[in-house]
Amino acid sequence: MSNYVKDLIADVKAKNPAQPEFHQAVEEVAESIAIVLDRHPEYRAAKVLERIIEPERVITFRVAWVDDQGDVNINRGYRIEMNSAIGPYKGGLRFHPSVNLGILKFLAFEQVFKNSLTTLPMGGGKGGSDFDPKGKSDLKIMRFCQAFMSELFRHIGPNTDVPAGDIGVGGREIGYLFGQYKKLRNEFTGVLTGKGLNWGGSLIRPEATGYGSVYFAAEMLAEKGKSLKGKTCLVSGSGNVAQYTVEKINQLGGKVVTLSDSNGYIYDEEGINSEKLAFVMDIKNVRRGRIKEYVDKYKYSVYTPFDSKLDYNPLWNHKADCAFPSATQNEINAKDAQNLLRNGVFAVSEGANMPTTIEGVKIFLDAKILYGPGKAANAGGVAVSGLEMTQNSMRLPWSREEVDNRLRMIMKDIHSTCVQMADRFGTPGNYVNGANIGGFLKVADAMIDQGVV
Ligand code: NAP
Repeated sequence: MSNYVKDLIADVKAKNPAQPEFHQAVEEVAESIAIVLDRHPEYRAAKVLERIIEPERVITFRVAWVDDQGDVNINRGYRIEMNSAIGPYKGGLRFHPSVNLGILKFLAFEQVFKNSLTTLPMGGGKGGSDFDPKGKSDLKIMRFCQAFMSELFRHIGPNTDVPAGDIGVGGREIGYLFGQYKKLRNEFTGVLTGKGLNWGGSLIRPEATGYGSVYFAAEMLAEKGKSLKGKTCLVSGSGNVAQYTVEKINQLGGKVVTLSDSNGYIYDEEGINSEKLAFVMDIKNVRRGRIKEYVDKYKYSVYTPFDSKLDYNPLWNHKADCAFPSATQNEINAKDAQNLLRNGVFAVSEGANMPTTIEGVKIFLDAKILYGPGKAANAGGVAVSGLEMTQNSMRLPWSREEVDNRLRMIMKDIHSTCVQMADRFGTPGNYVNGANIGGFLKVADAMIDQGVV
């Protein structure tokens, strides 16, 4: 690690104590950007990276709400407006009990680079709450969403900050949030993305992150003259990203053998085909149940509950060719990375944000496998959110084919930006450097153009 990165990280840690995920995200980016700063001292002189690390605005607020039993509940709400150099703040809302300032700052920081890579004019932001939607009635969810938006509405707008979904925030939650925003503002605008199709949503938005991560993997494989056809794939998670990752892998001729949730994972040697995927979607999106139920129907598959005493995740310890982590941050540690390599995995495309620890990333890079970091590989979701904003501004919906073609082109462009930037800065094949540098340069140049603000 260079002295510049060491000093920068020491400063970030001192100023932002108890935010390990944020430190991790900054460290990974700073390592890549150090190469750029050596060649372009003007960025260092203007302290561009230091400014990107400091959020433009952090909003925290009380969310007080009364549930359907009449009990008063209090949660904490957040919106991190990280960087608006190239467009309005854009990034999802996460509802999960683990949500805290450090996790949202890491996500907002990543989002700045990711949004820049999409080629669309979007700044970076992220938000959410420590509210846990799991097992709650629709009425409780609605009451919470309304209380959350009763404060958030004054900070967002179609030209200021446009939130979307993330863990725990899907179509149902976006609907309740949008309804409350519309009531409070008395206007119908594209202030959220991931909306329902008959009220301003875009076709392919639900599919976009998962499809995009598979398109990215297909591009990486094509560089080596390979394809997903006949490849065995490990997928984690069973939410929005994981479901559409499975759908696209199946369409491209691959076979997915795992899915998980926070309690455990299933292994189905025969592959999770479209009929089985429909069953998973019913469990997760309609009945809001657990992945364990999969083995009740498909008896030959195996369910393994997660064991917190293990220092590795057994999901990543099966013979396979490709891996698509699609659940949450830091779900692949150094031991998991080694297990993946030992089991023959030669391509990893990250649907989740920062699912691999710094030590795990190093193992992938040293082994020179095809490793697509989240900020490049999962940018398809926010890219189609950007296309949803365009359609809202034009008040014209595009067809499924049109949006899917644009998504495919954007993922292709992101892939070639990564390849070109990695080459240009002397680290060919390193998609981490390629993504960080490609994302950084556009934002950095815009910040320099706009002066010190
Ligand atoms: P989701 O629909 O809420 O699904 C999340 C999945 O991950 C669920 O299966 C969940 O299991 C599992 N999970 C969550 N936290 C976990 C934990 N601490 N340990 C183990 N499993 C956990 O969310 P999603 O939209 O698919 O998001 C998944 C990942 O993709 C996140 O990293 C998110 O930031 C990233 N991402 C999403 C989008 C998007 O468009 N949605 C875009 C870019 C990146 P349980 O049900 O048991 O909690």
